[in-house]
Amino acid sequence: MGMNFDFDNTYAALPEAFYARLDPTPVAAPGIVAVNDLLAAELGLDGAVLRSPEGLAVLAGNAVPEGAAPLAQAYAGHQFGGFVPQLGDGRAILLGEVVGRDGRRRDIQLKGAGRTPYSRMGDGRAWLGPVMREYIVSEAMAALGIPTTRALAAVTTGETVVREAPMPGAVLTRVASSHIRVGTFQYFAVRGDAAALEALASHVIARHYPEAETPLGLLDAVVAAQARLVARWMGVGFIHGVMNTDNTAISGETIDYGPCAFMDAYHPGRVFSSIDRMGRYAYGRQPEILVWNLAQLATALLPLMGEDTDAAVEAATEAVNRFPDLYAAAWLGEFRAKLGLKTEEDGDAALVTALLTAMAEAGLDFTNAFRSLGGDMPPALAPWRETWVARLAREGATPEDRASALAAANPAVIPRTHRIEAAIEAGLAGDYAPFHDLNRILATPFALAAPDAAYADPPAPGEEVTRTFCGT
Ligand code: AMP
Ligand code: MG
Repeated sequence: MGMNFDFDNTYAALPEAFYARLDPTPVAAPGIVAVNDLLAAELGLDGAVLRSPEGLAVLAGNAVPEGAAPLAQAYAGHQFGGFVPQLGDGRAILLGEVVGRDGRRRDIQLKGAGRTPYSRMGDGRAWLGPVMREYIVSEAMAALGIPTTRALAAVTTGETVVREAPMPGAVLTRVASSHIRVGTFQYFAVRGDAAALEALASHVIARHYPEAETPLGLLDAVVAAQARLVARWMGVGFIHGVMNTDNTAISGETIDYGPCAFMDAYHPGRVFSSIDRMGRYAYGRQPEILVWNLAQLATALLPLMGEDTDAAVEAATEAVNRFPDLYAAAWLGEFRAKLGLKTEEDGDAALVTALLTAMAEAGLDFTNAFRSLGGDMPPALAPWRETWVARLAREGATPEDRASALAAANPAVIPRTHRIEAAIEAGLAGDYAPFHDLNRILATPFALAAPDAAYADPPAPGEEVTRTFCGT
């Protein structure tokens, strides 16, 4: 059986200015680390074929499958607030798009596939650690039901990549509903290319938001999608770490798992990224950073919003200003569910905030504190518990219903940084068992089997990882 990608490429049909066409750069000696069989099946692919020598050659960039239209996408972006007019895929190659069994169109991209015209000083490669990390965390996000890019496969290249030290090279096959970013719009806006902006907006509306119809409608839809997304992140204690506009997907999926992390002990000011010295992308600041990123999208879309500039600015500003209310509602919905609440009362936001404050003061583990609501609650939450119990009493749910609602809203296990680092360390030594174990356990985050109970544990003293690195 041959490679069975059934490509249907629409981005590659956009004008030349959108990308540079080129093939991945072949690698010396590819080897499989992981193939995601369930995702492969969703895409109408066969995991066994992907593992075969022919499939491996495609996943490593050594062969271009039939029907692919390989290209590197152009984009710009604000990185830590500073604008870079040209970024683009410096080490990723989009092979093409596939419409899955569910009817959803998805990009198939090789990340770490060699230099492109957008590589600047970079080598176009990725190393095994970040590839394993993105595989684990993006798949864990998907299992938590949070919109995200996916990982179809991870392979080693048999080549060395030089970072702080020589590291084994690797390629991640990333699947996304698209890789179009806020920075893609900025790329054409800064060039004053209204025709390209128009083409991009039409492409995105048709692909992601068919109900949107106009550029303003598109902005509204992205604002709403991002408000929902960041509320989901907050609900699981996720810190993205590099919320630059080039890492903000128009689709509303989480993208770019670099120095990201799930919090262990809760604190709203928690930061992980080693390069985020100012705490710009701290847990508690993520919503306001998103507003800032969406304002950049609004600015980029202005040329499409009609001749009357004042009216356009006003409409775009209003659209961005809807974020706080949309976010507040999504956040409250998220945390109401985490408290097992089915009805709505005015005091609910205060009840959630009181819990978070008690958790921060006691330095409780975010995931386990919420999970404990359905069982043995940490003693530090005893005073808060009384208000909660009184609130619950005003709802009709049976204890059984409530327990199952709590268990369905509060994961037992999240991808903890110390576990990821241990899996990477073992992988670097040639042992992928901890990596596969972790992926297996994170695939069902709301149900943790007794033998795997230790995966719910926060890091023991000395095991904490306090910084995650961009050295990807
Ligand atoms: P990121 O930090 O992964 O969002 O990447 C920011 C920009 O740097 C993007 O344009 C990437 O394509 C580019 N980049 C990151 N790492 C490399 C690399 N090793 N080689 C070439 N370009 C890279
Ligand atoms: Mg990026």
